[in-house]
Amino acid sequence: MTEYQIYKPKLLYKDGAFLEHQAVLVEGGKIRKIGCGDELIRAFPTARVENWEHLVLLPGNINIHNHCFQSLLRGLATDIPFLQWRDEALYRFSPILTPEDLYTGAVFAFGEMMKYGVTTVTDFFYLHNHGIASDEAIIKAARDVGIRLVLARTMYDWAGAPAGYVESVPLAVEHTGRLMEQYNGKDDMVTVIPAPHSLHAASVEMVQAGFQLAKQYGTGYHIHVAEELFEVNDVKQQFGCRPIELLDRIGVLDERMTAVHCVWLDEHEKELMSSRKASLAYCPSSNMFLADGVTDIPYLKQHGVIVALGSDGACSNNRISIYEEMRMTALLQKVHHLDALCVVAPEAYDMGTVNGGLILKKPVGRLKEGYCADFTGVDLEHISMQPLYDNYEQLLYQMVYSMQPDAIRRVVVNGKTTVKDGVILTIPESEIVSRVQEVMKKFQAIQ
Ligand SMILES: [Zn+2]
Repeated sequence: MTEYQIYKPKLLYKDGAFLEHQAVLVEGGKIRKIGCGDELIRAFPTARVENWEHLVLLPGNINIHNHCFQSLLRGLATDIPFLQWRDEALYRFSPILTPEDLYTGAVFAFGEMMKYGVTTVTDFFYLHNHGIASDEAIIKAARDVGIRLVLARTMYDWAGAPAGYVESVPLAVEHTGRLMEQYNGKDDMVTVIPAPHSLHAASVEMVQAGFQLAKQYGTGYHIHVAEELFEVNDVKQQFGCRPIELLDRIGVLDERMTAVHCVWLDEHEKELMSSRKASLAYCPSSNMFLADGVTDIPYLKQHGVIVALGSDGACSNNRISIYEEMRMTALLQKVHHLDALCVVAPEAYDMGTVNGGLILKKPVGRLKEGYCADFTGVDLEHISMQPLYDNYEQLLYQMVYSMQPDAIRRVVVNGKTTVKDGVILTIPESEIVSRVQEVMKKFQAIQ
C-alpha cells in the first residue's frame, strides 16, 4: 500500500508567501501535493498526519560549497593569513586521515549543518590518499546522516600539495568517471560531479578533463576561482590574462560552470560570467575569515548570474549554517557598497534555497509539487523569532537576521524526519562527538 504523510504546519512558505491552513502531502520522498490541510486529510485518510502546531514549514537550505573533512580542523591554526592557514592546518593534518576519520569528519559536518536546516550539500572533496575508498566514506556518511549529497569530486594535480591530494589527469578522470557512473541516476540522494580544484591546483589539462566529464555525463562542474589575489597574479604571469578569461580561452566557461568565491574579478570577467551563464557559489563568512576580499554580488545578480550560498569548510568560517550565510551576505554587501538595499533579506533567502536547486539542476530548495520532500520546521514562538504581527510581515526578515539555530525544530529529507525537537535522529550527537574526540587524540599525538 502506498504510504502517505501529511505535514500540517501553522504556516507554510511557498513562492515568497507565508500561507495558513496549508499542508504538504508526501509520497515516496517527493512532494505529491500542497493544499488545504483539512481537505488533504479527508482525501488521503490513510496518511500519517504530523501536526506542526507552532511551526512554519520552509524548504530545506542548500549548502552549495563545503569541505566536510575540514570540520575536524575547526579551531586549529586560526586568525592567520590564508597560505599560512593552509600550510599549518590543512596540509599538516589532512594527510593522516584514514577513510574512517574521513567518515567521522563527514558525519560531523553533515550532522551539524542538517541540524541547522541544510538538507542538500555540495561537498567539494579532495583527499584521495585512499583512492575511491575516501570518496565512498563521504557518501556513506551522507547516507547515514540522511542528508542529500552532491559530491564535487575534486581533480587536483599541483605537486606542491600533500601527495594524497594529487592524481594524474588519467587517474582523476578514471576515478571521477567511475563514481559518476556508479551513483548518478540511481537515487536522488547521491550525485557525483567533477570539480577541478582551481587554476592554482589543477592544470589546464585537468580543468578541461573535468569539463569533458561534466559534458559527457550531463552534469555541472565546480571550480574555485580568484579566491585570493595571488591566483590572479599567477595566472597573469603564466598565461597573460585573468582567471575567468583563461577559463573562457580554454573552452570551459559556460552554464555548466559553478565558480566558487570569485572575489577578484575585473569588469570584463564579470561580464564574461554573465554572458556565458556561469553560476557563483558565494561563501561570505569564509571570505571574511580568511581576509580574501568582497565579491561583487550586486553586479553579478543584476546581470543574471545565479548566486547560491556555501559555508565553505568549517575551519574557515567557523559556523556551518546557511541561515548564517544569508545574514552575512546581506550585511557584508550592504556595508561594502554603502547601500542598504543592494542585497535584501528575501534575495539572501533565495540564495540559500531556490538558487541552490537551480545551480544543481535538482528539484530542491522550493516547496513545489513533484519536488523532493526536503523541508524544515521553525518555531514561531522561539524568542529569536519575535516580534511577529498577525500578517507575518516581519517573518522572512526574522529568518534571515535574528533567528538562532535552536529555533529549527524539525528537518525532513527525502520524506524522512532526520531532526526532531532539535535533536538529530539518524546518528546520536553524542556518538558524533565521541568519534571527533578520537580523531583529536591522533592530531594531538603529532603536535
Ligand atoms: Zn572551498
